[in-house]
Amino acid sequence: MAKIKISTKDIGCIKPRCRRKLKRTHRHHKGHEKLFINIWAGVKRGKTYKELVDRYLQFRPEDVCIICDQHHAEIHHIYRDIIFEHQTKEKIPLMAFSWKQAHTLMGDLRAECAAWLREDTPGMSPKAVFTKKSKPVKTD
Ligand SMILES: [Zn+2]
Ligand SMILES: [Zn+2]
Repeated sequence: MAKIKISTKDIGCIKPRCRRKLKRTHRHHKGHEKLFINIWAGVKRGKTYKELVDRYLQFRPEDVCIICDQHHAEIHHIYRDIIFEHQTKEKIPLMAFSWKQAHTLMGDLRAECAAWLREDTPGMSPKAVFTKKSKPVKTD
């Protein structure tokens, strides 16, 4: 049998110097599209909503990044502040956001994630960030 050589650089969490390379990972969506997919489930039925769901379910390499539990918790903790900032600025609930406002927010989340992915950060306890089980994306 041929020997397969795998470097720990190539597997697991892609954050620089993450020490949890062999731990469970997530395919994290950089734009956190699930936020609006869940908020607008059963509310928005248009083509744009369907496209958002379809693309989310494709887990395209350019849309997702592979990160460990603790780093996943950390980026979602950072997202919370950004989401709150946008809500405060728009003075309306997320549910009432226009597509333009939603795409601006998702763009900011993606940009933050791209910058954060290059940094060496410690991560956070998932228990401190994820209080309840998040709902899976509905495909219908
Ligand atoms: Zn995520
Ligand atoms: Zn990590």
